[in-house]
Amino acid sequence: MNMYDAVRITSYLSDNGFISTEAEDDADIIILNTCYIREKASAKIFSELGRLKKLYVNKKKAVPIFAIIGCVAKAESENVFKRAPYVSIVLSSQKYHLLPSFLNKVIKDRNTPTPENKKKKNLHLIDVELSGLEKFDNLTPLKKSDKVAFIQVQEGCDNFCTYCVVPNTRGREVSRSIPSVIDEAKGLCDLGVVEINLLGQNVDSFNGVDENRKPSTLGDLIKRVAILPSVKRIRYTTSYPSKITDDMIELHRTEKKLMPLVYLPIQSGSNEILHKMNRKYTREKYLEIIEKLKSANPSIQISSDFIVGFPTETEEDFEATLDIVRKVKFIQCYAFKYSPRPNTPAAVMEGQIDNKVKADRLRRLQMELRKNQDAFNKSCVGKVMSVLFTEVSKVDTDFVVGKNEYLQPVIVKGDKSLLGTIRDVKITSGSYANLKGEIV
Ligand code: SAH
Ligand code: SF4
Repeated sequence: MNMYDAVRITSYLSDNGFISTEAEDDADIIILNTCYIREKASAKIFSELGRLKKLYVNKKKAVPIFAIIGCVAKAESENVFKRAPYVSIVLSSQKYHLLPSFLNKVIKDRNTPTPENKKKKNLHLIDVELSGLEKFDNLTPLKKSDKVAFIQVQEGCDNFCTYCVVPNTRGREVSRSIPSVIDEAKGLCDLGVVEINLLGQNVDSFNGVDENRKPSTLGDLIKRVAILPSVKRIRYTTSYPSKITDDMIELHRTEKKLMPLVYLPIQSGSNEILHKMNRKYTREKYLEIIEKLKSANPSIQISSDFIVGFPTETEEDFEATLDIVRKVKFIQCYAFKYSPRPNTPAAVMEGQIDNKVKADRLRRLQMELRKNQDAFNKSCVGKVMSVLFTEVSKVDTDFVVGKNEYLQPVIVKGDKSLLGTIRDVKITSGSYANLKGEIV
């Protein structure tokens, strides 16, 4: 989601006359797009601000205009100015279309001379309101894109998992209209995009209206995107397990452009912990959904997220998580230690788990996950897989790198003429990190 926001911010600023630079010590403006999901998020931003400011002070250059955007901006609000008074702009993730006008105000203010004997005060501009879809009505279409692109189709989240800050930092769940998403998708096709990933925190609950103001489903949206001839691959992220509809499962049987990797965060394998997390499914229901998905399309594989050390998690609860990992054989996962977040119910629950125990469980879980990923990668050897090539290898320029249906990196001998194309590749070797192969 933040990557999508960053692409839109960069493009919108360039449409408004700003130019991006790769040199972090040579900018007039520095924008930090921030994430608040786990602890130390704010601390990291303030230390990064300090480090960047120092670069300029040491070089005796003017301190750039600093803007903080996103979930830390929302959570810390005015506090950003108290802790880092040299920051000029603070905007929530739904207000970044205001950046050009705010930046121009700050630039004008900095260029206006102050009366003698007066020290100029840094202008502070803030808007952290959560205004739903407002930004989409204001942003200009992208002018360039990678071959693989995201489209945000939904803002916010209404699930209120007890550990999570997203409902507070990104607000209530609201879906974009189908025409607005399709316009963006067509624009991306004109820029040569081949793969589109539809984004929402709870994307299966997408209910944007169509041209006739009729609420549509994620399945309806995917069918509309699939009609676009240049789009060859479609993904959607992130699914809330119990919200996957039978229609969506059916679409995995019929829609060949829909990739067979389903990202289905389970968080825990223990029903007791799932209940305390306010996740509205059980491990049995989760396994049932996977079975349905696989019977619709046997090539489907599952990836997931896990949280270990949630308050009151016992060794038995944790074993239930390991057990589900062994059963499902997830092929790629993110696992995190539970991190208590401000203003969330879980942060004040009894039974907080000692960090050492969390670290130990995370290590054990990662070992188990790695076994599955390793085994899956090795099982690909000898198979022909379809790969979308996106970059020349940084290690050896005689090779190019792409991603297969399951988002595994695949390396083959070749040059940049392959970039942006999808080719059948026979996999010749597989390690934990990547696959190697030959174009057939
Ligand atoms: N909407 C998605 C996930 C959004 S946040 C979903 O419900 O699956 C991405 C991941 O961050 C979550 O899946 C969860 O595993 C992790 N996460 C969120 N809050 C966390 C917390 N307080 N501590 C540790 N991990 C957390
Ligand atoms: Fe957070 Fe739960 Fe919403 Fe995901 S579904 S964003 S974990 S509240």
